Amino acid sequence: MKNYNVIVIGSGPAGMMAAIRSSLNNKVLLIEKNDKLGKKLSITGGGRCNLLNLKNVDEFIKEIAVNAKSFYSVLKQISPKDLYDYFVSIGVMLKEEDNNRIFPVSNKSITIIEALNKQLKLSNVDINLNEIVIDIKIEENNKVVITNKGRYICQKLIIATGGCSYPQTGSTGDGYKFAKLLNHDITDLYPAETFLITKEKLPLAGLTLDNVTVMLDQKKVEGSMLFTHNGVSGPVIFRISEEVYKKINKEKQAELVVDLLPDYSYEKLINSLNNYNSKKEIASFVRQYLPKRLSDYLVLSLNINTKIAEMSKINKQKIIESIKQFRIKIKKTGNIETSIVTGGGVNLKDINMKTMESKLNKGVYFVGELLDIHGHTGGYNITIALATGYVAGEASNN
Ligand SMILES: Cc1cc2nc3c(=O)[nH]c(=O)nc-3n(C[C@H](O)[C@H](O)[C@H](O)COP(=O)(O)OP(=O)(O)OC[C@H]3O[C@@H](n4cnc5c(N)ncnc54)[C@H](O)[C@@H]3O)c2cc1C
Repeated sequence: MKNYNVIVIGSGPAGMMAAIRSSLNNKVLLIEKNDKLGKKLSITGGGRCNLLNLKNVDEFIKEIAVNAKSFYSVLKQISPKDLYDYFVSIGVMLKEEDNNRIFPVSNKSITIIEALNKQLKLSNVDINLNEIVIDIKIEENNKVVITNKGRYICQKLIIATGGCSYPQTGSTGDGYKFAKLLNHDITDLYPAETFLITKEKLPLAGLTLDNVTVMLDQKKVEGSMLFTHNGVSGPVIFRISEEVYKKINKEKQAELVVDLLPDYSYEKLINSLNNYNSKKEIASFVRQYLPKRLSDYLVLSLNINTKIAEMSKINKQKIIESIKQFRIKIKKTGNIETSIVTGGGVNLKDINMKTMESKLNKGVYFVGELLDIHGHTGGYNITIALATGYVAGEASNN
């Protein structure tokens, strides 16, 4: 049975960073079930990898969907700016895009994977690919890691197996099973940051709106959205999908109210309509503001495809209301396998957030998406994975 100071399970951003930092004082083994490192990382950001979000700590925390406050103690030790500097220091050229999102200049996620791989090699981390951890046992002060290929013994164990979204990348939720074996509680798992399927098919597939406001009860989010063949998607939809999931679970239905023109008030649009050439069709008025397909759809669905001069006051109000309060009934959310991130996970009440160490099993650390913490889209989730991996790796040196 081979002996290591530290074993890290999983080579996502959390596991690779943990292994690199842990190797400062330790002989480390990184075990990955795939034939290459960072398979999920390679598809992030549409293959471009939105590596980090460079918001300052207070603003960053606001983008964490659950357990945001617990993350303060992690960011106090390693902030997004520290992580940015780290990548620059290992030779990765980075660039900032809108909303503080950081990407490699190469626009290729492989740049990040290769840079981390190089650091793992420089740090003499042993890397076992194509090896699946199937069981973990705690024996006095040692941990025994059992794989499909053999058994290992280590003093400290870092579990970085990810969530259960996109299982084809290797993140099949194995860590939840290991955590349960070690007496940890797993909060309910659910799809977070996912597309929505509408009750009715809207004839708008492929249409993108750059700036809308979407409301569900008291929750209001702003950004771009996309109509798909069976529903709606895009950043603003991902952002509200968690609330939609909870509402549908409780009330079996959810209705989004979309302001298609948040920069124009209702009054402004009514005035504009009243001043518009009344000999023209109403569709021509709407097309000034919205794409043709959407304008035609709104006019058709209200059945008021007439000249403005022939429209009643009520119908004028109705068309403006349909722009300011476009209602979309949602049937269901995408499932957990297709969601960008897994909601829920290892309950943080049993984790020391200063070290990521289990409070129940000394020398066992949980990091990354496996934990009950996640952010919205925009680089927050890889930042969470890297930061928790960093903290656990550092702590394992003590
Ligand atoms: C399509 C898509 C795009 C995304 N884009 C972005 C983005 O641009 N920016 C962003 O911040 N976030 C993005 N995310 C989310 C982000 O990828 C994850 O939150 C992040 O990868 C989690 O990192 P992790 O290290 O915790 O786990 P993972 O990256 O999931 O890595 C876990 C690793 O553990 C391995 N493993 C699991 N079980 C075992 C086992 N039993 N034995 C051995 N190995 C095992 C897996 O094979 C896997 O390689 C995206 C997610 C998806 C699905």
